[in-house]
Amino acid sequence: MALYTIQPVKVPQVDTKYRKIRTALPVPESIPIIEQLRKYEPQSMQGQPPLIWDRAEGFQVFDKWGNMWLDWSSGVLITNAGHAHPKIIRALQSQLNQKLISSYVFYHEKRAELVKLLAEKAPQGLDKVFLLTTGSEATENAIKLARTYGIKKGGKEKHIIVSFHNAFHGRTLGAQLAGGIPALKEWIVNVDHGFVQVPFPDGFFQEDTSFDVFLRTLDSLGVEAKNVAGVITESYQGGGPFFMPKAYAQQLETFCRENDALMIYDEVQAGFGRTGKWFAFEHYGVTPDLIACGKGISSSLPLAAVIGRSDVMELYAPGSMTSTHSGSPLPVASAVANLLALEEEKLVENAAELEAVLMQGLNKIQKKHPAQVGFVSGKGLVAGLQIVKPGTKEGDGATAQKINEACFHKGLLMFAPVGAGGMCIKISPPLSITEEALQEGIGVLDEACDEVLK
Ligand code: PMP
Repeated sequence: MALYTIQPVKVPQVDTKYRKIRTALPVPESIPIIEQLRKYEPQSMQGQPPLIWDRAEGFQVFDKWGNMWLDWSSGVLITNAGHAHPKIIRALQSQLNQKLISSYVFYHEKRAELVKLLAEKAPQGLDKVFLLTTGSEATENAIKLARTYGIKKGGKEKHIIVSFHNAFHGRTLGAQLAGGIPALKEWIVNVDHGFVQVPFPDGFFQEDTSFDVFLRTLDSLGVEAKNVAGVITESYQGGGPFFMPKAYAQQLETFCRENDALMIYDEVQAGFGRTGKWFAFEHYGVTPDLIACGKGISSSLPLAAVIGRSDVMELYAPGSMTSTHSGSPLPVASAVANLLALEEEKLVENAAELEAVLMQGLNKIQKKHPAQVGFVSGKGLVAGLQIVKPGTKEGDGATAQKINEACFHKGLLMFAPVGAGGMCIKISPPLSITEEALQEGIGVLDEACDEVLK
């Protein structure tokens, strides 16, 4: 990943309704803070845009020095309801006033409210909810449940977890075994051969999107379908966003049903309205057995969840599937307020409606630079541009970084490019963004692309 320079650059001043840039960037006064972070944190934490967040509200981010960015990051797809949503702030203040900020291993009332809300949001039959803290924990837990279910139903042979090339499910051991990026697994050395990966039908890198590829790959890996305990997939792969064809997802569901394998959808990134539906798997017309949730579940504090079929969720005896911070009162209060805000303010609908505006704008940009913008995709309020070496599918991370940085200088904020070699400019504003602000952002990206790709 390319690093942002922390040498201040004089940039043109910006002063619009949604963006204000009044200083050199990075702000000279912010450099000591960035240097302190770089000194005490591992370099793995570098690669973040060089600004110091002071306040974030709605779809804007502010620093202390008078700059204001239009946010197209939502942190990292966290703040679906918008930054510092007033209802979430009020819920947190009220929780603090109540003087209950930690309770596990004891019950509290808000936890009861949240698990009910989540179960009601999930498809029928998925009526148990286990609260956790991070997305990685949620995917780990789903994998563990699938294996536990498999060996209970089919004996030890039925333990295979199938996942996809290029998949990302988190950075802990189990999550990375299921991940589909080989470089991230080198540290594991003795990989568990019970984890296998098949090509993801993204329609860009993998042109053959037929379900046959899934079956043929399992066959070539010597995996018998009856031994599959579970299949885990992101509802869309983050480096795109890349979606499966609907027919593929439905055939995958049939495969899982026929082989009594659990279908796990990792909705950590895709859930809670991001794609214009509560859960992104709804676009496929399928019903998972387990859903892993995180990020947008609270639009703020760390919270994750596994929502699933009760026969699967009940596999562990009382006291044997727990976590210290499960259902911690503050994250829970923020999640309840978040879910209500998303619903009451029709933010999922807003994401669905603005999809056309966003995609039209991005397609126009691609038309101007067809050799370098290799692929454009998106749904709801998540989208991406793949920046490639002219006329190829080979990623050009350096150019993507330049576009990202140019946007940053103009007051449009995105996290660093993602995907293979950092080739993907990822767009994910809070779902509360207005059409006018979205259009302004598209204009800025267009200008940045013109400058960098000229
Ligand atoms: N699954 C997906 C699809 C994700 O995007 C992420 C985070 N980027 C995770 C799992 C891991 O979540 P966390 O960083 O909260 O552990």
